[in-house]
Amino acid sequence: MSIQHHMVVAASLLLAVNTVSAQATATTAGANAGSTRLDPIIQRIASLGKDSSRTYNLMQALTDSIGPRLTGSPGLKNGNDWLVKTYQSWGINARNEQYGTWKGWRRGITHVDLVQPRVRTLEGMMLAWSPGTGNRTIEAPVVILPEFRDSAQFVRWLPEVRDKFVLVSFPQPTCRGDESWGRWKDSTWIRTMMEERAAAARAWTNRVNATGYSLGLGTGSLGRRLEAAGAAGIIASRWSNGWGVNKVFSSINQRAPAIDLSCEDYGLVFRLAEQKQNPVLRVTADAEFLGEVPVYNTIAEIRGSEKPGEYIMLSAHFDSWDGASGTTDNATGTITMLEAMRILRKVYPNPKRTVLVGHWGGEEQGLIGSRAFAADHPEVVEGLHALFNQDNGTGRIGSIGGQGLVAAEQYFTNWLSKMPPEFSANLRTNFPGTPGGGGSDYASFICYGAPAFGLSSINFDYSQYTWHTNRDTFDKTVFDDLKHNATMVAMLVYLADQDPQKMPRGRASLAPDPRTNQPRSWPSCQEPQRTSERYFR
Ligand SMILES: [Zn+2]
Repeated sequence: MSIQHHMVVAASLLLAVNTVSAQATATTAGANAGSTRLDPIIQRIASLGKDSSRTYNLMQALTDSIGPRLTGSPGLKNGNDWLVKTYQSWGINARNEQYGTWKGWRRGITHVDLVQPRVRTLEGMMLAWSPGTGNRTIEAPVVILPEFRDSAQFVRWLPEVRDKFVLVSFPQPTCRGDESWGRWKDSTWIRTMMEERAAAARAWTNRVNATGYSLGLGTGSLGRRLEAAGAAGIIASRWSNGWGVNKVFSSINQRAPAIDLSCEDYGLVFRLAEQKQNPVLRVTADAEFLGEVPVYNTIAEIRGSEKPGEYIMLSAHFDSWDGASGTTDNATGTITMLEAMRILRKVYPNPKRTVLVGHWGGEEQGLIGSRAFAADHPEVVEGLHALFNQDNGTGRIGSIGGQGLVAAEQYFTNWLSKMPPEFSANLRTNFPGTPGGGGSDYASFICYGAPAFGLSSINFDYSQYTWHTNRDTFDKTVFDDLKHNATMVAMLVYLADQDPQKMPRGRASLAPDPRTNQPRSWPSCQEPQRTSERYFR
């Protein structure tokens, strides 16, 4: 069959499947030409991506040596500089573009020991932007946040926290991963256990709310109030429902350290305190506030030879949380784009349109870097032909949505039909889809109606085990899938550059929101926060 005929088949299958289900499976596999008929540039991209991949070394350098890239940390700036140097070593122009400032903070060591009633070194670390202990070691007893009728009663109790560590999180009854219960207990038993656990967690939330303050992402305004009352430190724990995993976010404390303890160790200290066995903790924590520091997006560029005012963008945020090394969020997206650019520079160094990469800062605080870029570069938003963003873990790209743009289906169908079949096999598509209002950086562009798409990875236990956790480390990378993704992005960029016309921006009428049944409206663009002032207030 001819390529054209295959494309028609693929397109009609897409349409047929999509009328059945919004999350349709597009059976484009095999509906394209065999490898002998592939465009020679596509063939070269495929072989470079597979046989001379640099993903392992790039990932290792970034996540092991540079480490996490918290916004405002020296690690993020080191990473920005490493990206620029890496691009330049390949002959690609790159620059760090300042988009604002953020609270500068250097994380040093955290060491937490239980010293009474027995000795055990605990698994814990400061929350991001926590104060340290200031060249000292703090040894202090522990107090559990009690139940209060109201905020007035809480305030009367506050003198109790002076020179004590305050436990503010729900003590999980079990730190065994839910999947283990599922294997060994029957479903009735599990349902009861989970209901009891959920009720206890709600009661704890009510306990926190009764203070009139909140924990925010970590210790929040409650932590601030406790440190003002003289607490030695705030101890929290945010279990991520699996073996050994906690989500480690941030504190807005200014003086007292805010520490996340593992689920097991938090439970240990909590029970010792609850049973009046007088636990004492010893904490050494080193951290340094560096004032408001400049923060950057790293932008790399291969200038277009025929239509330099039209843009194809690769997009992945570069900042991370710092409970581990930010591997699947989002070093994998970062290396996908970096490796795709390396391949493109080798096999397709003179694109017609300008190829831009955005390695964004401040995504974790609200897509700040990409929103600022879109606001600062209206010419790119205006001239955008297509943007490909990746930001949900290490798995291979398993679904693509049209973001509510009518033309997306036709363009993606065409691109996919020109790739080797493994790139469209098992790929789920959702056209026209709905425009995302947040979640990742494509939203900073689709809000203007510019064609910006998310390349969504298969799950790989992302939300439970690696997303924002203390286990998001190099070893979690699935290199087979990372190579696949980098190769696919390079192909998408090349194929998009062959399109004679910039993608039209006609908007589909949006399906009602299934939760509210209300008609959806196109998401509006938000003003980026250019400083950290509001975030830490
Ligand atoms: Zn992310």
